[in-house]
Amino acid sequence: MKQLPLVKIYLSFSLLAAMAAPSLAIPSDSQTASKPDPQIANALRQISPERIQSNIEKLVHFQTRSTISAQDAESIAAGKGIGAAREWIKSEFERYSQQCGGCLEVKTDSFTLGPAERIPGPTVITNVYAVLKGTDSSNANRVVLVTGHYDSRRTDVLDPTGFAPGANDDASGTAVSLECARVLSKMKFPATLVFLTVAGEEQGLDGSRHFAELARSSGWQVEAALNNDIVGGDRNPRQNPHVVRVFSEGVPLTMDQKALRMMQDIGGENDSPSRELARYVAETSRAYATGVKPMLVFRLDRYLRGGDHISFLEQGFPAVRFTEYSENFNHQHQNVRTENGVEYGDLPKFVNFDYVANVARVNAATLASLASAPAPPQNVHLLANSLQNDSTLTWDAPIGAGQLHYEVVWRLTTSPEWEHRKDVGNETRATLPLSKDNAIFGVLASDGKGHRSFPVLPSPER
Ligand SMILES: [Zn+2]
Repeated sequence: MKQLPLVKIYLSFSLLAAMAAPSLAIPSDSQTASKPDPQIANALRQISPERIQSNIEKLVHFQTRSTISAQDAESIAAGKGIGAAREWIKSEFERYSQQCGGCLEVKTDSFTLGPAERIPGPTVITNVYAVLKGTDSSNANRVVLVTGHYDSRRTDVLDPTGFAPGANDDASGTAVSLECARVLSKMKFPATLVFLTVAGEEQGLDGSRHFAELARSSGWQVEAALNNDIVGGDRNPRQNPHVVRVFSEGVPLTMDQKALRMMQDIGGENDSPSRELARYVAETSRAYATGVKPMLVFRLDRYLRGGDHISFLEQGFPAVRFTEYSENFNHQHQNVRTENGVEYGDLPKFVNFDYVANVARVNAATLASLASAPAPPQNVHLLANSLQNDSTLTWDAPIGAGQLHYEVVWRLTTSPEWEHRKDVGNETRATLPLSKDNAIFGVLASDGKGHRSFPVLPSPER
């Protein structure tokens, strides 16, 4: 008898909720969040703010990492300039590899550029990277990548000698790539992980452009490129140390007119592969104790600005950019000085190393989850050959798939993230009692142990 009023309250509350907002819930759906994988959780715990601090301080000690700074043998021996920074990064990757029985292939990607707008004479630009090859032959060509740029700059981007610490921009992102390599190289994944540090960003995204072209010409299937640029959590009053911004493009840069028209016809403007990747980052971050919450920004980059993820987007690869919540422009691209009591320059003392470690955890969780998961399903279609209020989706298994589960996810067209999911077992077809006019659908593959691919937006089949 005592429970009766509660039931009444509940019923009237449900009724109110139903009136307040339309819902796309169906009886058998679930909102099960991703379950954390204990091995991945363990790797995240090993990410060390102290090590990140010492790596950022080491990078600052090279005095300048300007792409046009010295890289002759003498300067490298003296520990000054971008050449010395490059050699040190390479030696770090090699040290991590020694600790995992040579599990990493440590490589460089060098090319000569210039003279060009921001490069006065012929200059060797070198990207340094480490590859943790996938253990499954049919998945090893799938690549999940993390990158940061190790070059720095002065106010004058053509100044090759003055002090250019670049602690936040972008020793912080370089430290994320290094720390992800250190902790994830102790694990094995079916797909391949690439830990990248590039040069030439400040001169015009030169290093990343070359690397993304290399990935394309090598036939890599880059499923995700995570670019960390300015993730230092600058200690300023407007900073939110619990939030990291994740920028993702809407309409893909490489989309042709026909594909664009289809996107307009089906209302797919908010579901580019990069945006599914951004949602995946947010969902994965919630599953693990990363200490920082991704704030999705549905925009290519900061307003009219750019970064290395654009190089990957230009090759048609899904990519996102991580940047701290509130940037302090006195501490970016500025010569170190004090004017009228205001400190300028990108010094380590403004960096919050615990924050960088948390951003590294979000990255490592995403990298490990995607590299553990099967490839996304292929040929995902939404049947549109007759007018009806149910929605039928069909798809094919990804290449190299073993025993897979598939999930259909969906949300209101106005919702930023997936709201509902239904596990449809190993079927490659599902009909849901929902109108395709009112929902956005996606289909993902799961290994049944909680490792999910990101969802694929269906194309219409008539
Ligand atoms: Zn930068």
